[in-house]
Amino acid sequence: MLDVLEYAARNQERYLSQLFEILRIQSVSADPARAGEVRRAGQWVADFLAGTGFEHISVMETGGHPAVYADWLHAPGTPTIMVYGHYDVQPEDPIDKWVIHPTPFEPTVKDGQIWGRGTSDDKAQFMPHIFALEAWLKVRGSLPCNVKIFIEGEEEGGTGGTHDFVRSHRDLLACDAVALSDTSWFSPEQPTIVYALRGISYFQVDVKGPARDLHSGVYGGMLRNPLNAIGQIIAGLQDDQGRLTVPGFYDDVVPLTEVEKDEFRKVAINDDERRKDLGVEALFGEAGYTSLERNWARPSFDVHGIWGGFSGEGSKTVIASEGGFKFSCRLVANQDPEKIRGLVEDHVRHLAPSGVKVDVKGLHGGTPVMVPVDNPFLKAGQDAVEAAFGKRPVLVREGASIPITAVFLEDLNAPSIMVGFGLDSDNIHGPDEHMPLSHFRNGIAACVHLYKAFAGVVIPSHSRVP
Ligand SMILES: [Zn+2]
Repeated sequence: MLDVLEYAARNQERYLSQLFEILRIQSVSADPARAGEVRRAGQWVADFLAGTGFEHISVMETGGHPAVYADWLHAPGTPTIMVYGHYDVQPEDPIDKWVIHPTPFEPTVKDGQIWGRGTSDDKAQFMPHIFALEAWLKVRGSLPCNVKIFIEGEEEGGTGGTHDFVRSHRDLLACDAVALSDTSWFSPEQPTIVYALRGISYFQVDVKGPARDLHSGVYGGMLRNPLNAIGQIIAGLQDDQGRLTVPGFYDDVVPLTEVEKDEFRKVAINDDERRKDLGVEALFGEAGYTSLERNWARPSFDVHGIWGGFSGEGSKTVIASEGGFKFSCRLVANQDPEKIRGLVEDHVRHLAPSGVKVDVKGLHGGTPVMVPVDNPFLKAGQDAVEAAFGKRPVLVREGASIPITAVFLEDLNAPSIMVGFGLDSDNIHGPDEHMPLSHFRNGIAACVHLYKAFAGVVIPSHSRVP
């Protein structure tokens, strides 16, 4: 593999200038006025692939922004890996907050960083895969394993057309695992692979009381105040140990293993520093778990908004006729958002006190994903990143979600191997987005290793956690 790595090393300047080409394209998927730019970025990827040896290259219509597909499937007996990434970016607003690098779409290298919108998220993260695969094809004329490329254009905002596209193109996209780089390291010194993401169930509750707003002196004590009822329902949803009170809620939660707890200990956060940083008196969450365990591997419950009645200055003695609140539960493997939705809705109705009309509805759901820590593709990812960066990546989970990974799991039965090269400090979605140049360069080397390592994997009977 040395020859391929050497080729990649020799071509670093070209890779950087080609990365700059795609960074200059203003592929802001949330902005209808720049839909043409999004398409142009997809076309740029397709044009790049055209010179590499990849086949069936096409910019495919998804119903939303287009996605780029290509494949090279001439390594019989090896796994088929799908490279996933997204060439769309977040809007650059507020433009006046870009102070270190005032031109989001004119990239530059400064202080060891590549600056520009779409560097860390996700162009400088997915392009290393493509450059590494090009290096294999140029040097060897073949890839170590079968590869499909699927780069989408509406991860940051769109119609969901890409998700529908995956669901309706299962044969085209069928694969044994998905390789993606769209996550960040736990810290600048610690390479990191994410093996699980939480899902979500989101709810709205509307509470109706009297037919009109009432005076609390004239009517107080005669009827149930809907806002009091809201407080009662919210308080009833969680006990003082931080656990949801919904019957059956925890039934499908996969318990943390000792191996996982050991991995988490390698990156333990300092609770006291975190507490100070957040400006709270104390951290709080489900009893019996560390903060990271609670954030990554346990479900959580948060109210997002409460409305109703009077919140202006001074006092007004009103009994509001109605109010409501929104809340969500973050879910972990193997909780099913649909099942949770039913359980939570039933429990909210159960908690609803008499004298008010309580209407609860689930707004949206997302499935949690998890790759078992003994999955061989995960180990291949660790080996590859260690070879390029000189330090073995720790296996972590994340508290948030990447919804398409749930689609890959549900519709392709493929685990997502999240080999990220970014840092939390890269300012993705914000002004002055950047990514370390060394992570881009070593990322290419890591990807050269990665596809070789994937080739040696005996395809396991994955991917759903038992
Ligand atoms: Zn991203």
